[in-house]
Amino acid sequence: MVWQFDPIKPHNCIMSNPINSYPNSWYVASSPMLAEQRHASGDLAYDVCVVGGGYTGLSCALHLATAGKSVAVLEAERVGWGASGRNGGHVGTGQRADQHSLEKWYGKATARELWRLGLEAVDLVTDLIEENDINCELGTTNIHFAAKKSHVDELRDEVDYLRNQYDYHQISGVESSSLEELTSGIGFHYGVIDHGARHLHPLKYCLGLAAAAMKAGASIFEKSQVKNIDIRRDLAIVTTDKAVIKAQRVVLACNGYLGNLFQPIAGNIMPINNFIVATEPLDEATANRINPLNASMSDSLFVINYWKLSEDRRLIFGGGETYSDKFPVSITDFVRPQLLAIYPELSDVQLIYGWGGTLAITRNRMPDLGVHKGVVYYAQGFSGHGVPTATMAGKLIAAAIDSGNDDFDLMSGLKTLKFPGGPLLRRPSLVAGMLFYSLRDRIGQ
Ligand SMILES: Cc1cc2nc3c(=O)[nH]c(=O)nc-3n(C[C@H](O)[C@H](O)[C@H](O)COP(=O)(O)OP(=O)(O)OC[C@H]3O[C@@H](n4cnc5c(N)ncnc54)[C@H](O)[C@@H]3O)c2cc1C
Repeated sequence: MVWQFDPIKPHNCIMSNPINSYPNSWYVASSPMLAEQRHASGDLAYDVCVVGGGYTGLSCALHLATAGKSVAVLEAERVGWGASGRNGGHVGTGQRADQHSLEKWYGKATARELWRLGLEAVDLVTDLIEENDINCELGTTNIHFAAKKSHVDELRDEVDYLRNQYDYHQISGVESSSLEELTSGIGFHYGVIDHGARHLHPLKYCLGLAAAAMKAGASIFEKSQVKNIDIRRDLAIVTTDKAVIKAQRVVLACNGYLGNLFQPIAGNIMPINNFIVATEPLDEATANRINPLNASMSDSLFVINYWKLSEDRRLIFGGGETYSDKFPVSITDFVRPQLLAIYPELSDVQLIYGWGGTLAITRNRMPDLGVHKGVVYYAQGFSGHGVPTATMAGKLIAAAIDSGNDDFDLMSGLKTLKFPGGPLLRRPSLVAGMLFYSLRDRIGQ
C-alpha cells in the first residue's frame, strides 16, 4: 500500500520574503522563496525515498517522478539550504579533474566519455532551466586566470589539448598583454576563456528544480532529518523523528552534510567549508571595468578564488576555506583580503553579505557515485564542480533505478579512494595536506 500526499502546487507557494533557517546570503535576499513544505509524519511508503534537497536530490526526484515513480524527498532543513543554495553559481565544462589526469587514471577512452558527460551536464542544466521556465539569471562564459607564472604553461597546454584532441573550440587562451580587456583585476599572467561554460543564481535554480519536481508529482518534506536507514533484503526503512518510510530504493544526496548517517560511504568524502561575500551594488563603470563580458571568473590558486556579478551589479566573490566544523566569526573579514588582492580598487566598497557553505571533496576530486546492496544509491563529492555534475548525478541515478543506465555504470565504476585515517583521523590528515597546498598559494611564483 502506498500513502502519498498530494504535492503542494508550486504556484501556491511563492512568497516574497526570505524564511527562517536559510543563511543570511545575497541569494536568499534576492530569491522568491518556496513556502515551507510539511514535515514527514506517520507511516509512509514510496517507490523511492531521496534524502537531501539540493541539486542531486531534486534532479533525481524530478527525473524519477517524470518516469512515473512515486518519490519523496526528505530534507533536514529547507530545499536549497545546503551547498546548492549557497555556491558561486559557476557551471563549468568537463569534470573537476583535467583531461590529462583523467587519461592517466582511467585510460583515454574513459576520459573521453567523462568529457562528454561533463558537457552534457552543462546542457542538462540549461535544458532544465528552459523546460521548467526557471528564472535564474543564466549567463554564459567563464574566464579562468593563471594566478602564478608557473601555472601558465599548464593552462596553455590544456587549451591546446582540448582544442586539438577533444575538438573543443569554445575554449581559447588569452596572453597577459590582452588580459586588461577581460578584467581590471591584477596579478594574472594568462587567461582561459570558455564560451561553453554558464553561470547562474544558484538558489533560484535550486528552488526552480524543487518546484519542477513537485509539479511532476514528487512529494517534498522539509524539516525532516533522516536519522536511520535500515536495509531489509530489497527494501529500506527510513526513519525520521516523526515518520517511518518504506521505500524500494533510497537515494543519498547529502553531500557535505552527510555526517554519520551512512558509514559505508562516509569515508569516501571529506566535508570542507568555503566562503562568499556580496558587495553593495557597483556603479556601472566599475562593473564594466571588472567584468566587461559579464562572465564568471576564477583563478588557478589551490584555494580557488571565484567571482561574478549579480543581476544588480554586486560582486559575488568566493575565496577562502576552512577544514573544521566552524565558520569564521566574520566571513566578510575572512574573504576581504582575497578580494582586495585582485581588485584593490574596491577597497572602499562595502561588503554587505558574507556566508559560507559545506561541500564534499573526494581524494581525486571526481564525484563518488554508487549503489550499496542494490538498495541505497548515492552521489557525493562533487568537489566544487557540482552545479552541473550533481544535477547530472541525480538524473543518472533516476535512470539507473528506472531501467539501468550506462553512464551511471561509468561513473560508479570509477575507482574511489578512501581518505586515509578512517572516520576519526581522516580530518587531521586532510587538514595537514590542504594547509600545505594553501601555504604554497601564498609563496612562490
Ligand atoms: C561556497 C560554495 C561555493 C561553491 N561554488 C560552486 C560553483 O561555483 N560551481 C559549482 O559547480 N559548484 C560549486 N560548489 C559546489 C556545489 O554547490 C555542490 O557540489 C552541490 O551544490 C552539491 O549538491 P548536493 O545536492 O549534492 O548537496 P547539497 O546542496 O549540499 O544538499 C544536501 C542536502 O542534504 C540535506 N541533508 C543532509 N543530511 C540529511 C539528513 N540526514 N536528512 C535529510 N536531509 C539531509 C542537507 O540539509 C542539504 O540541504 C560550491 C560549494 C560551496 C559550499
